[in-house]
Amino acid sequence: MTPAFEKLQQQLKRLPGVGYRSAERIALHLLVEKPAHLAELVASLQAAAGSVRRCERCGNIAEETHCALCADERRDQRLICVVEHVPDLVAIERSAAFRGVYHVLHGKLSPIHGVGPEQLNVATLLARIERGEVDELVLALSNDVEGEATCHYLTQRLVSTGVRATRIGFGLPSGGGVLYADAITLKSALEGRRDYQ
Ligand SMILES: [Zn+2]
Repeated sequence: MTPAFEKLQQQLKRLPGVGYRSAERIALHLLVEKPAHLAELVASLQAAAGSVRRCERCGNIAEETHCALCADERRDQRLICVVEHVPDLVAIERSAAFRGVYHVLHGKLSPIHGVGPEQLNVATLLARIERGEVDELVLALSNDVEGEATCHYLTQRLVSTGVRATRIGFGLPSGGGVLYADAITLKSALEGRRDYQ
């Protein structure tokens, strides 16, 4: 293989879910087998990089200041589901069981890996609470130690704010969180959410 090919392969390997073999296959596909796809991919990447950004309010992907969900007046803007990543939000939306809006943390607290509140999209959530914009936080974080620590941290910040905190998790796969649950399981998990103590 050539140096440029190997460099591309290394870059592809950094993508989530792409291993060494897949990176090699993709690089060969783009450079040798279907070079027309490469031009289209480059154009799409450039267009997306220029227009897609984080919603300033919730951290979801957006092309305006606010994402489509935050801009939707038919949603309950005072009911906020807190998730770790955008795909979690997508999974809950697919279940069609939630009428509120979201806040995407882009991770969870993990002192071992050096992830504190400053590394997450937490300040904007606390600001939403301080502005009195929130009635309930629905915590849809993973059922593991880090997810639990994140729930605990957030609920500590709710003391004397009057904001209710609930946790979904009943029936969800342990450690996987919402991403690996099917729509029916998510729906019952949301409906069966309990006050978080
Ligand atoms: Zn938003």
